[in-house]
Amino acid sequence: MIERKEIRPNRFVEGIDIYNPSVSLDKIDYSGSLTPLKLDWNEATIPPAPEVKQALSAIIKRNNTLNWYPELFSKSLVRALADYTGRREDEIVVTNGSDDGLVLILRTFLEPGDHVVIPHPTYTHFLTQAETVGALISKPVTRTPFQPDSSVIINNTTADTKLVYIVNPNNPTGTLLPVKEIERLLKRYPNTIFLIDEAYYEFAGETATGLVSLYPNIIISRTFSKAFAMAGLRVGYIVANTAVITLLKRLLNPKSVNIFAQTAAIAALKYRHYTESYVQAVHQSKELFISFLRSRNITVFDSRANFVMVEHPHHKQLLAQLEQHNVFTRDRSNFAGMEHFFRITLGTIDQTKELIRRFEMILNSEK
Ligand SMILES: *Cc1c(COP(=O)(O)O)cnc(C)c1O
Repeated sequence: MIERKEIRPNRFVEGIDIYNPSVSLDKIDYSGSLTPLKLDWNEATIPPAPEVKQALSAIIKRNNTLNWYPELFSKSLVRALADYTGRREDEIVVTNGSDDGLVLILRTFLEPGDHVVIPHPTYTHFLTQAETVGALISKPVTRTPFQPDSSVIINNTTADTKLVYIVNPNNPTGTLLPVKEIERLLKRYPNTIFLIDEAYYEFAGETATGLVSLYPNIIISRTFSKAFAMAGLRVGYIVANTAVITLLKRLLNPKSVNIFAQTAAIAALKYRHYTESYVQAVHQSKELFISFLRSRNITVFDSRANFVMVEHPHHKQLLAQLEQHNVFTRDRSNFAGMEHFFRITLGTIDQTKELIRRFEMILNSEK
């Protein structure tokens, strides 16, 4: 008889914990008089365009949409994205959310022991995934987190560094590294992949996609989860040089993006003026909210995305009070140097006025 051993994961997964988010979904009060304001995960605060919903219900009514596999490699969506991004179809792949795109990039290019630079603070999903492929990760902390800073990258990158991850605009600080700076890095480290996560591109309006035909060492990831209001549907995409895209397609599962996701994304791009006006509203909301906080002497950092960072000496208490008012924000105080910070997503102007009303109630009750 062969002795039965405990089943263990591979050595890179051994030290990893199950992702434990602060799940606001469990705390939301749907029955009370205060409408929930879910402002913790940077999702859009409104549903997708009505045309997107119509396209989704049309799928259910049509025959052979659910029993057959979806269109392989999301070909029609790639075509629509070529138009949206101004890139060629062979410079784009669609993934099941951009998080899956990040994993695809890691699995395609990294080997155990490869050096990866992830400046902090930033979006941590990528960090965990890079650990599971055995990367040696440098996590230098940006000294001026609210100013774009390429020196932190230069000080920690060598000619042998395999990959540098830059969230642009960054989550949670909202800073934007100018495209010119990115281009300088691409030239300086020609054998290093620069992965630019543009999850908040629509809010910032600036992109590095124009560099992909000139440099084979840049890869850009984007998502429909934020400005396009489709986080529940899971669609993301990658833009890169044709040579890179050809390599990514080796491991890409051509049927991993389901038919609802593909159809909704095509409709969202077709009716993109809806997203454009949402983006405008978010920018106005940010201005409104920032001037409110400043009028109350609360420190707040503006961003190029759909959120702001707020610093408050009693932030935990404030977050708890906001939750009592059915407002959900994200505690970011576990990041180095951000001991009293929380992040708050902004939505429509009406929602922001309501947010300010509840915030004021809390502040006034403290007196
Ligand atoms: C929200 C977010 C994502 C997640 O995108 P999905 O397409 O929903 O997987 C990726 N990167 C950053 C920086 C984000 O903030």
